[in-house]
Amino acid sequence: MRRTKGEGPSLAGDSPSGVNELPGRLDRYSKAKSQAVHTASYFQTVKDGKHEDDVHRRLYVCGCYLVFKHYLEQGSVRLASANFCKVHLLCPFCAIRRGAKALQAYSQRYAAIQSAVGSEGHLTPFMVTLTVKDGPDLLERFNKLHRSFQDLNKQRHGKGSGHSTWTNAKGGVASFEVKRGEGSGLWHPHLHAIVLCHPDKPMDAYRLSAEWLKITGDSFIVDIRPIKEKEGEGVIGGFMEVFKYAVKFSSMNSIDVVDCWRLLQGQRMLSSFGLFYGVQVPEGLADEQLSGEYMEMLYRYHYSEQSYQRYPSRSEGVILKNDPRDLRLSRKDLRLSRKDLRKDLRLSRKSVEKCSPGVAHGVALTAT
Ligand SMILES: [Zn+2]
Repeated sequence: MRRTKGEGPSLAGDSPSGVNELPGRLDRYSKAKSQAVHTASYFQTVKDGKHEDDVHRRLYVCGCYLVFKHYLEQGSVRLASANFCKVHLLCPFCAIRRGAKALQAYSQRYAAIQSAVGSEGHLTPFMVTLTVKDGPDLLERFNKLHRSFQDLNKQRHGKGSGHSTWTNAKGGVASFEVKRGEGSGLWHPHLHAIVLCHPDKPMDAYRLSAEWLKITGDSFIVDIRPIKEKEGEGVIGGFMEVFKYAVKFSSMNSIDVVDCWRLLQGQRMLSSFGLFYGVQVPEGLADEQLSGEYMEMLYRYHYSEQSYQRYPSRSEGVILKNDPRDLRLSRKDLRLSRKDLRKDLRLSRKSVEKCSPGVAHGVALTAT
């Protein structure tokens, strides 16, 4: 089976940081972008209709330029803009950014909850994993997982709710994920949830397993482990596990990635309840910006070299302020960059068009 090599891009450290961390960040984005181009090359051969044509175009050019702002006083480098496709089930780059935004939003809510309950009422975070049996029909299995999780949440309220160990969850947020089962090769949808409980009333793994089997009828596999705080980063490491992307790009071929998107687009991949209910994850995928002096840095993706390179900007070395006139200057640079980019894309598309349908079939055959 043809698979994308390597561990794939990671959410780890994808938050605003100093200039020394920028090369590592660009390296992660390069890997994500090249995976997106790989998927787009396959998608080009199977896309059907205007909607898919539009999505293919957006995916192909997504992240072809990145604008960072280096805030000099704070020493922080922030992603200010990029042409995001926002198709996070197809695009690893947008999936990384969406995960980072969700991580930030839920971490803030977590801090607010703990501060509101005070040190005496401090809640313990657990990571809970729930699965359903692997199966050949992805949509049927995904819907089964979704419905079962809703049924489990209903146990928290109403008649007889006190009998369920899930009642001990004062709040939770679950992220749905899809991959192929390692042994079976069949679809394996599952969810990871952060669940908050009082320390003297934790979740009982045996009872949860029995309740989950009663609800699903075919799966008793549950995993519960406390999320430990680490010095310097708190619970972020544990939370990252939950907000990593919904599709395990590194272990799936392009055919599976496109199939997943076709079947699951429009589905809710995050679900929250109790104290975590109502958290708004921002739509925008850029970093939050600061105020004060900054230097703008423009990077362009080179399709042939599969990496980001600094684009010689007219504002190179010039310290910019939060001034609309400065932004006009940088937009000029962006226009120049787009001109070059169009040339780059024309060249790159030619190489994709050279792929005969036979080559695309070869991918399909090796994947079965
Ligand atoms: Zn994208």
